[in-house]
Amino acid sequence: MQTQPTASHFINGEYVEDTNGTPIEVIYPATGEVIATVYAATPEIVEKAITAARDAQAAWAAMTGTERGRILRRAADIMRERNHDLSILETYDTGKPYQETSVADATSGADALEYFGGLAASLTGEHIQLGEDWVYTRREPLGVCVGIGAWNYPTQIACWKGAPALACGNSIIFKPSETTPLCALKVAEILVEAGLPAGLYNVVQGMGEVGASLVTDPRVDKVSLTGSVPTGRKVYAAAAEGIKHVTMELGGKSPMIVFEDADIENAISGAILGNFYSSGQICSNGTRVFVHRDIKEAFLKRLAERLDTAVIGDPMDPDTSFGPMVSKRQMEIALGYVEKGKAEGARLVYGGAAIDRDGFYMQPTVFADVTDDMSIAREEIFGPVMSVLDFETEAEVMARANATEFGLAAGVFTKDLSRAHRVAAGFEAGTCYINTYNDAPVEAPFGGMKNSGVGRENSKAAIDHYSQLKTVYVRMGDMEAPF
Ligand code: NAD
Repeated sequence: MQTQPTASHFINGEYVEDTNGTPIEVIYPATGEVIATVYAATPEIVEKAITAARDAQAAWAAMTGTERGRILRRAADIMRERNHDLSILETYDTGKPYQETSVADATSGADALEYFGGLAASLTGEHIQLGEDWVYTRREPLGVCVGIGAWNYPTQIACWKGAPALACGNSIIFKPSETTPLCALKVAEILVEAGLPAGLYNVVQGMGEVGASLVTDPRVDKVSLTGSVPTGRKVYAAAAEGIKHVTMELGGKSPMIVFEDADIENAISGAILGNFYSSGQICSNGTRVFVHRDIKEAFLKRLAERLDTAVIGDPMDPDTSFGPMVSKRQMEIALGYVEKGKAEGARLVYGGAAIDRDGFYMQPTVFADVTDDMSIAREEIFGPVMSVLDFETEAEVMARANATEFGLAAGVFTKDLSRAHRVAAGFEAGTCYINTYNDAPVEAPFGGMKNSGVGRENSKAAIDHYSQLKTVYVRMGDMEAPF
């Protein structure tokens, strides 16, 4: 593989290896073959990364926003020029089809670098006049940020955390998921090529304990995690010990409501994108599809016809539209939920089995007649398993849609304008969709309510999570004191 990074870690502007760390095999999900080995960071590697990040940050923060932004925008241009190679690497790391990775990963990372690069020059405090006296605020960086990634979007996550952190004048240490360690190294390499001074974007590999050692280090000021709710609880608690800033992008079990007046083809497109894109391994997926009783059977029939047209196969083939899952373990988890769905009385209407070929393939799977209490309706599966639930009234479906610990996303398909906005307002979820699903443009805030997270990524909102305000009070006259 030509595009492969040359060592496990990227620290202080260069690749670094330490083979004393625990070996982590990188497996290509389409074949099950080992394509690379990286080594988990030893305490020495972690120390090196934190020292580099600490040492480099002040000079970076002292540069103008225009200068910082120019480097990020140059990195965005390089990512776009190399989109093909980066997409191939993303496919090797995750197994997602090239048809997806060529339009959704390096491109999305480049969008974040371009957007926050553009914003960097306009980050300001404000002036507040108080009679003769006045206050001004300075928008200052937090210092050293730690980013910890999930395995489903390794390039995108590395950029969604790195771009706003760097734009605000921070340095960052990114720990990718141990399942997909390769892509973030390329992001680091490109940033340095674009002119980013050494030490500002570092990548260290490892399992949870490497993440934990970063989170608990007193020299780290902020932690941004993309991962599951159980991991989020641990990382949030560890960060709280040091009163650190946090962003938590966690899991979901999002509802998608299809009313009887919906455009059925569009609703099915939404259900397909929100359940089977990336083989269902997307946090914001609308995995509880509530379909109005009057149109349920028509919906299921047409859904099955559309699923029959999925091209399942080699993810490197540009015609393939449905690839393997990221790992054997993840596939087994999803297949386990298929068994639970059957055992708990749901009606399997499509798929439901592993596919007999190399790699970690399972069929796109649809259950109907799912009820709210079933495991497949309550728990995040993170695989290609859609649950279709019936409903009759808006009030009923809203109460059921919101009856979950999660609050990441939600969608509604209807032609009734008032109902669409009323439903969006009623959803307890951070990102809501009307007649669409899973769009995530960098211009829009993204993040969860309830157990799905804290803070927002993307958009101007992310700036608040990577910077802090300092208030400076200026007295123009004499000071009075009681004695
Ligand atoms: P995970 O929680 O198992 O791991 C996430 C990351 O945390 C990994 O890098 C892991 O090594 C690290 N980690 C684990 N324990 C840790 C600890 N104690 N301290 C510090 N770091 C630790 O999640 P995953 O299986 O990699 O990803 C799937 C999950 O991520 C799903 O729940 C999905 O919904 C969620 N996700 C959320 C978003 C979002 O933006 N909200 C996006 C993608 C994925």
